[in-house]
Amino acid sequence: AVVSVQQALGGVVAPGEEVTVRGWVRTRRDSKAGLSFVNVSDGSCFAPIQVVAPASLGNYEDEVRRLSAGCSVVATGTLVPSQGQGQGFEIQASAIEVLGWVEDPETYPIQPKAHSLEFLREVAHLRPRTNLFGAVTRIRHCLAQAVHRFFHEQGFYWISTPIITTSDAEGAGQMFRVSTLDMANLPRDNKGEVDFSKDFFGKETFLTVSGQLNVEAYCLALSKVYTFGPTFRAENSHTTRHLAEFWMIEPEIAFADLAANADLAEAFLKYLFEAVLAERADDMAFIAERVQKDAVTRLENFIDSPFERIDYTEAVRLLKDSGHKFDYPVEWGLDLQTEHERWLTEVHVGRPVVVMNYPEQIKAFYMRLNDDGKTCAAMDVLAPGIGEIIGGSQREERLDVLDKRMAQFGLDAEHYGWYRDFRRYGSVPHAGFGLGFERLVVYTCGLANIRDAIPYPRAPGLATF
Ligand code: ATP
Ligand code: MG
Ligand code: MG
Ligand code: MG
Repeated sequence: AVVSVQQALGGVVAPGEEVTVRGWVRTRRDSKAGLSFVNVSDGSCFAPIQVVAPASLGNYEDEVRRLSAGCSVVATGTLVPSQGQGQGFEIQASAIEVLGWVEDPETYPIQPKAHSLEFLREVAHLRPRTNLFGAVTRIRHCLAQAVHRFFHEQGFYWISTPIITTSDAEGAGQMFRVSTLDMANLPRDNKGEVDFSKDFFGKETFLTVSGQLNVEAYCLALSKVYTFGPTFRAENSHTTRHLAEFWMIEPEIAFADLAANADLAEAFLKYLFEAVLAERADDMAFIAERVQKDAVTRLENFIDSPFERIDYTEAVRLLKDSGHKFDYPVEWGLDLQTEHERWLTEVHVGRPVVVMNYPEQIKAFYMRLNDDGKTCAAMDVLAPGIGEIIGGSQREERLDVLDKRMAQFGLDAEHYGWYRDFRRYGSVPHAGFGLGFERLVVYTCGLANIRDAIPYPRAPGLATF
């Protein structure tokens, strides 16, 4: 039977029966006794399987002994319990067919050793063949599956929100414009000049920075919904936690306030980490060995710690009283910077923190104004080692207040007519948040740089393939 390496290592057939596995060579070692040990990985699980190749194979001298890292092979043989520790089974090969050779083994970028992450970013198309990126990729998959499972179990419906949009939901001016390449039919103004503002069939459009505004409309019909898709922000910066293209998970719940929103965020994150610990133990063990020693206990602690909830006003007081010298100023009315966020969660409480009720002028127009008239019902979830991973809020459901806030932010009420509609027709309190999927992967895998949390990072200087 043709089986995956994972199935073979798990003993999918009775010992002594024949199996065929297909994959890529990790290492080859020849013994003096005229045997070769070829480790083959197909990415189905962390470990490769050992294929023992006897000299009696027809192509032993010509091919098997020329195998190097990266060659693709089909190996057939009997599955037997392995003598070495760590793996359950190995294959005593009766045939090894080489599907693809590595052109120049000396210059093959993925050698059997630990490479620097910077180097691997340059070969993003080959890095999934390394132990580390195999593990990160499977953990990322596990997280994505758990996201959908959590919401499904909680009665949420998944909504696809548009990638091409005319609205800057965050008002931060970080949008990429969508342009046509139809040179023959470029939109022109009446002087004949190219008019890029009419690119999208006569409209100016952008790549979305958030699906939130659109998902709100579905929330006010299906009550519990979420969107999970790519978002784009022109972050022309070199931080370790920003990408120009990232995925965001945005749930939205009707009949809910900020406290319910924070409860949802906490239950959600804990569910995701439980899934990873239960389903990806082998990959997490490698992460602990290679990336961060306490990778597993960190997630266990996260699951066991109730989140600390601190008002923004209190957070500013704590930061000011800390005596710590920060690079950026701490002042009521200014947004918190990563260093402030990290101090709050790492130094002050040593567990995740939800900062609530930020000054209204530093948060987006759609966030609900509190009765004090100075703060809005916003929350950020801060995780040790990274800072903000979630941003959320209760939304402004009162049309008159929303209109005032839109005017204050210089937004055109007419353009947002559709968004005002669901305040005009049966408005209800509602709330939601956005979790950056790559920040979640960074946190789970203890990575230092978000560029290693997505298969093909898009950042200044990196959008090459
Ligand atoms: P930051 O303060 O880190 O720039 P933000 O406040 O601009 O984040 P939000 O608009 O609140 O971000 O977006 C919600 C979530 O999306 C954030 O909490 C974060 O997890 C994620 N996120 C935002 N910008 C990026 C980015 N450029 N790359 C990756 N993830 C991001
Ligand atoms: Mg930002
Ligand atoms: Mg922020
Ligand atoms: Mg935010």
